[in-house]
Amino acid sequence: MNSENKIYDVVIGGQGAAAFAAGMYAARYQMSAIVVGTTFGGETATGGLIENYPGYPDIDGFELMMKFKEHAEKYDVPVIDDKLVISNANGNSRKESDIFEIAGESDQIYRGRSVILAIGRERRSLWLDHEEDWTGRGVSYCSTCDAPMHKGNTVAVVGGGDSAVKGSVLISKYADKVYLIYRKSELTRPEAANLRQLDSATNVERIFNTNVVELLGDDQKGLTGIKLDNPYQTLESLDVDGLFIEIGADPRKELPMHLGAKVNELGEVIVDKYMNTNIPGLIAAGDLTDASGDLKQTITAAAQGSMAATTAYEHVSNL
Ligand code: NDP
Repeated sequence: MNSENKIYDVVIGGQGAAAFAAGMYAARYQMSAIVVGTTFGGETATGGLIENYPGYPDIDGFELMMKFKEHAEKYDVPVIDDKLVISNANGNSRKESDIFEIAGESDQIYRGRSVILAIGRERRSLWLDHEEDWTGRGVSYCSTCDAPMHKGNTVAVVGGGDSAVKGSVLISKYADKVYLIYRKSELTRPEAANLRQLDSATNVERIFNTNVVELLGDDQKGLTGIKLDNPYQTLESLDVDGLFIEIGADPRKELPMHLGAKVNELGEVIVDKYMNTNIPGLIAAGDLTDASGDLKQTITAAAQGSMAATTAYEHVSNL
């Protein structure tokens, strides 16, 4: 595929709340903008029911992200399915004079006077044997996507954050029994509202101070059980039909670091209050960044996207 010659005012990486909000704001500043990303809707789209986005007391995350995308497209911002990478057959991602050249997995090169990276985070894995092979055959990373497949089943969820708790509550509506397995002794991370819902889900059993150390099953059936490092009611393993790994995510820091952006000890891109990284014209927003600490929500990502577009506008206006 040829590399495109057009130089955009801003190339926006990602397809989540921050990226779409940035695209919409950039267009309103009359900037030429393109949104390029792989995972439509980011974390919001697979987050299930969203109950804390102002104006929508309860809306499905996928539907909310469709509205974000449509809003950006209303301003004629192209939204492209492609992954931004460090290099492709047509060259490396880099900043040359005042122009950024960003490689896409499709072998396209996207050129911009500024770049907003809103590429979010990658879900964590337990790195157990068979974890990858049995994904889709018992092992899952998305409660919202796969909960309905577990009608009448026994299922385990690993993790102790909002995702694990929300996931357990959702799965409990389908499964007969859910084990929520957490490595610490108490759930302190999740929002109070999510914990209240967990309290009402009477078929969720909490197992604390415990890790899943082995996946049991075979290549024919997929997952049939899990082994624990700390016996639960004398059982060293549990028979389960499904295991949901909801243990958070890590920032996609490779591309920003390659472009020279500094990251903190969590791998989050360090930005100032205007979403500037340490590289002029390289701006970042959303879950990729250190901008909102632990409050990584759709509303914070969207707000950061709008701020990032404003910063891109000021950068490009001053070139
Ligand atoms: P978090 O990073 O908040 O939590 C990850 C959990 O997984 C932690 O409890 C962590 O344990 C545990 N964990 C990490 N690695 C392992 C491992 N190798 N083995 C076992 N357990 C492990 O991720 P979430 O996806 O839950 O949430 C991400 C962000 O999104 C948070 O800011 C959250 O608040 C937000 N969110 C909000 C929602 C809402 O309804 N408002 C819904 C979903 C997410 P430990 O506690 O010991 O570190």
